[in-house]
Amino acid sequence: MLRKSSSETVQNVPHKPAPPNWPLTKTKKITGRDMDPTKDKVYNGCLLNGRIIDWAFLMSSIATNIEDENGQIHRFVINKWPLPSLRDFAILEAVKVFRPNVKTSIINPYHRKARDGYNTIRVEGPEYVKLDTSMIDEQCHVCGKEGKALPSCSQCKMALYCSKECQTFDWTEFNHKGICKYLKMFSQLI
Ligand SMILES: [Zn+2]
Ligand SMILES: [Zn+2]
Repeated sequence: MLRKSSSETVQNVPHKPAPPNWPLTKTKKITGRDMDPTKDKVYNGCLLNGRIIDWAFLMSSIATNIEDENGQIHRFVINKWPLPSLRDFAILEAVKVFRPNVKTSIINPYHRKARDGYNTIRVEGPEYVKLDTSMIDEQCHVCGKEGKALPSCSQCKMALYCSKECQTFDWTEFNHKGICKYLKMFSQLI
């Protein structure tokens, strides 16, 4: 499973998606299976639904990872994120919004065959994405299992787990060990 947020801030891309056409009247629902992994292509008139499975990475764009309805993982980049002037505040805003188990609906997704080998769904701005945060406190951050009052990481209180196994897996395999202290800092501000 890909679990590596990195930024892809290419300014000059070969394609430009159509402006987002909310509300969805004639939109076709697609998943990664409907996309050609070898082609740099915009899927205009299409909607890709998924959920965020990672914490956001912010440079001048937002990058995270999403899982679509077939369980396929995509890197997801919002190229232009309205940055507040204070960088720390911008990161805090990003962590608040782009967090595990936020449901995403992406209109006119642009599939990019990235130079570093990680295929990416890119949109030009937040107007292409609808976010639903209703599940953020109800799903395990590793396996997505639903539950009420899931225990959280005792340090950061941000990461939720259904089991000890998932917690250990996150710590060792998904680098919670490396980001826990930052999440703890944010949790005191959120
Ligand atoms: Zn779990
Ligand atoms: Zn933690």
